[in-house]
Amino acid sequence: MIDPFGRKINYLRVSVTDRCDFRCKYCMSEHMTFLPKKDVLSLEELELVSAAFIRKGVRKIRITGGEPLVRKGIMELFRNLGLYLKSGELDELTLTTNGSQLATYAEQLYDAGVRRLNVSLDTLDPYRFQDITRWGNFEKVMGGIKAAQAAGLKIKINTVALKGFNDHEFDDLIKWTGAEGMDITFIETMPMGAIDEHRSDQFLPLSEVKKQLAGSWSLSPSSYQTGGPSDYFDVAETGSRVGFITPLSHNFCESCNRVRLTCTGMLYMCLGQQDNADLKAVLRGPDGLHALDAAIDEAIGRKPKGHDFIIDRKSDDKPAVPRHMSVTGG
Ligand code: SAM
Ligand code: SF4
Repeated sequence: MIDPFGRKINYLRVSVTDRCDFRCKYCMSEHMTFLPKKDVLSLEELELVSAAFIRKGVRKIRITGGEPLVRKGIMELFRNLGLYLKSGELDELTLTTNGSQLATYAEQLYDAGVRRLNVSLDTLDPYRFQDITRWGNFEKVMGGIKAAQAAGLKIKINTVALKGFNDHEFDDLIKWTGAEGMDITFIETMPMGAIDEHRSDQFLPLSEVKKQLAGSWSLSPSSYQTGGPSDYFDVAETGSRVGFITPLSHNFCESCNRVRLTCTGMLYMCLGQQDNADLKAVLRGPDGLHALDAAIDEAIGRKPKGHDFIIDRKSDDKPAVPRHMSVTGG
């Protein structure tokens, strides 16, 4: 699939639920209204749509959410999509998780063919962790990370950089991930969905973080590519890598190779734009599966050049896009 700007689209992110067992302050408000079950694609439907994308050339699928591992029966989807790895039609099946359920599922994920995954962790301080996630349990996540490593899964830590919250912990996080043989990626907060606080109070440009880190670590641009949006640097002192995802302070759209499917079957061609294609309506419509390929082609033909994210005082109370990250999938 080639979009109107000549970008090859070979990466699909699939949000399998909008629900979560955490309430991270930058992601959700404490009292969220979740979607009724009938609006959410069944596991079978998620697989049908994913398979259509694989037929059209998608080589990498990331399962996300909400928290993907709280969706009932989710291992069935991993096992079924894992078959496309075995047949060579897919290069990678991966997920982004908060880690709370990894102790239960790590081995099953490995058996399904998953080899790498992202765990989101913003702090190494249990009290701070409790504060930012509201409902999270630090020890459980640490146990999950250990279980995943023991199962043979390679972990990358995702850390949202938050001004006044974890900006004094970046060196410790790099030291810890390096010692554990993990890479780490820092992410800028994006103005997605209403939350209970001001985003401009939290926003920390990663250009500043990069400068700060260059004072304590020997960073050199890495040739490492994952097919994702992260820009990697090798850290000479640890032998691991540090990545930066900078949707706001740097335009990451030129090399965008991905589209996102929500758990309600809406296909978003851009994380930061509202335009979408309702693949659930197509799938549940009169022509069903037969109409899916044409609907996907039509949607890719509308992929925009880039996003319009901006965080400042004026735009603070109006997110650039009204949907939460937990709906579109990070
Ligand atoms: N629940 C899983 C997790 O936390 O890893 C998967 C879904 S979560 C929405 C995916 C990623 O998006 C996480 O790394 C999270 O920190 C990040 N995220 C959530 N809201 C964000 C926002 N407004 N700006 C930037 N990153 C955000
Ligand atoms: Fe849940 Fe992930 Fe959002 Fe945190 S970032 S509330 S873990 S979906």
